Amino acid sequence: MRPEILFKLFIPNKQLPGVGPRINALLTNVAGAHIADLLWLLPNNLIDRQFCPLIGEAPNGKICTFIVTVIEHIPSPTRKRPYRVICSDESGLVELVYFNARSDYLHEILPINEKRIISGKVDVFNGRVQVMHPDHVVKEEDKALILTVEPVYPLTQGLTGKVLRRCIHHALKLTPNLPEWLDPNLVQQKQWFNWIESLMAVHAPKTHKELIPTSNNRARLAYDELLANQLALAMIRRHQKKRKGRSIIGSGALKKIINANLSFVLTPNQLEVLEEINHDFQTENRMLRLLQGDVGSGKTIVAFYSILTAIEAGFQTALMAPTEILAKQHFQTLQPLAEAANIKIDILTGKMSSKDRNQIISNTKSGSIQLLIGTHALFQDDVAFKNLGFAVVDEQHKFGVHQRLALSNKGDGVDMLIMTATPIPRTLSMTAYGDLDVSILRERLPGRKAVITRAVSNERLQEVVEGISRAINSGKKAYWVCPLIEISDKLDLAAAEERFQHLNLIFTDRVALIHGRMKDIEKDRIMDSFRAGKVDILVATSVIEVGVDVPDATIMVIEHAERFGLAQLHQLRGRVGRGLDQSTCLLLYSSPLSANARARINVLRESEDGFVIAEEDLKLRGAGEVLGIKQSGLPHFKIADLTFHSDLLELAQKEAKLILNKDPDLVTKRGEALRILLYLFERDNAVQYLKSG
Ligand code: ADP
Ligand code: MG
Repeated sequence: MRPEILFKLFIPNKQLPGVGPRINALLTNVAGAHIADLLWLLPNNLIDRQFCPLIGEAPNGKICTFIVTVIEHIPSPTRKRPYRVICSDESGLVELVYFNARSDYLHEILPINEKRIISGKVDVFNGRVQVMHPDHVVKEEDKALILTVEPVYPLTQGLTGKVLRRCIHHALKLTPNLPEWLDPNLVQQKQWFNWIESLMAVHAPKTHKELIPTSNNRARLAYDELLANQLALAMIRRHQKKRKGRSIIGSGALKKIINANLSFVLTPNQLEVLEEINHDFQTENRMLRLLQGDVGSGKTIVAFYSILTAIEAGFQTALMAPTEILAKQHFQTLQPLAEAANIKIDILTGKMSSKDRNQIISNTKSGSIQLLIGTHALFQDDVAFKNLGFAVVDEQHKFGVHQRLALSNKGDGVDMLIMTATPIPRTLSMTAYGDLDVSILRERLPGRKAVITRAVSNERLQEVVEGISRAINSGKKAYWVCPLIEISDKLDLAAAEERFQHLNLIFTDRVALIHGRMKDIEKDRIMDSFRAGKVDILVATSVIEVGVDVPDATIMVIEHAERFGLAQLHQLRGRVGRGLDQSTCLLLYSSPLSANARARINVLRESEDGFVIAEEDLKLRGAGEVLGIKQSGLPHFKIADLTFHSDLLELAQKEAKLILNKDPDLVTKRGEALRILLYLFERDNAVQYLKSG
């Protein structure tokens, strides 16, 4: 239950005065649907209205606030000419200029012979002082409201600064003072204000310096948010650890059989990771381990060997992938091996006939299935295991914390291995997982050659096409990725369709198109025909599936490479270089390249190490942009910005641990305040894990 003190902050914006359906929709769009969301919308600029000169002394081009008496209204002589209102003070006259204004409205706000405070940008020419469309016109008693530094908020089309400011003002007025949840020593050491003071201050900046993320008040609010994030993760983690795991010790029998059936041997790096996993298995603590390894670094087989250990020890196992294509691919890879070892394996996805589905669900429940591969379908309510001991989640960043939990709750003390091909810099992985164990596959697999990466100007498209023609005539396969057009995936698709038509004219019937809007069945069919060599060129939008494995595809063309992020280019390039043949990646760009785009392309040409690339990406683009985080399952912060606040993140992680060591169920006075913090940042899912929650 949300604490009562926060009720006011979670009423819908549409209940604010003056907010009708239209403004509500705009507010929801820029901030969110609730009052609390408005609090986190911080100004990105300010206007100083404290300058209050006499009219006769007003400098051209400056924002001025005048105290005037209204003298005369001069209506527009024609529709194209402005309406003017003449006002004065002891030093002279000022003309307020309005285009398309309603006279009755202007008479209402500027009645003749009355005093008004007006503020706006001044134009002086030929000694005439004008203010076009003043920003403010108020009565004298409201002077103090105007004579301030005014915050400027990021706008959205249709929402004026005035309306937004008014809404935020109302939201702040409703905001209660909340009990302090921070450690008083930290607050003192950082010289922070309390929460409400900091909040009010960030909405009333006096100088430009206060607008930067590291300014004192913004840092305090960012820290609050990071602490909520880290505390919630630590609570979940603690809860998982508390439910003891079981010691899993394999006999080695199945692994022996698989070793004999595998066409390669595991690398030292793979063995080392398996050792780490085995160590976790053997202890009674629950395993929560992240396996990071570049695309094609051989994570799947590591997962499979771990699965074998768990099956040897008598447990059921699960392998979850984010898409149907990937789940099927895992199934196809592992089925022959499983068969050789006489392991019962099956696949469950969302798109099966209910007859098949029921059969699998029943075999899972009875325990006869030993390895169940699948998509999101795996953690649905009606899926139950007899004895799930180990679960692997592939491409983890596509799943949220709670989806991961839903799967691990299908057994008692399930050990979890989560795998990602996206090298996540440590700061970012902390926000998604908190403190967890990490294993890394860093080596190139034996026999793999580095992918040759070339940057080629668009103008040489014809040569590229000719090159591909030669390559496919000698039996090679190519991916052709079409430009990313940020505005909409409709346009992305249009660009891909156009390229598909073009290439299909040249390579009749040897080209196929795949894109994110297709049905899965269709995608499967196309991937199969590419894999089987019925088509040689696969044109794709940028959504080409992560993890797709067609080892004999050796050419990757990426159009408008300058529009892609580094990590994304790296992922795409990772589709080739998976077999023993030499592979090539061609980055087509349209010149001239910006310095930043050139730097990105160069990083890619010089390195194939995903971790190096991710770090460079972080430097070149900032945390918000890296890895396409916005679309991923990584948390999105309202105030904190990891480019600036990574030190605060470290601090928050340490503090979260300390807090839970001292007060695991958050029952002290400070604990209660921390619960409020969790609800404030909507991390309240974690509260269910408190004993008295
Ligand atoms: P990832 O899941 O990390 O992207 P995969 O597990 O799909 O990578 O591995 C890519 C390819 O490399 C697969 O075809 C796999 O069979 C093969 N592979 C894995 N380990 C080795 C190894 N030690 N030696 C040779 N090939 C390997
Ligand atoms: Mg994989």
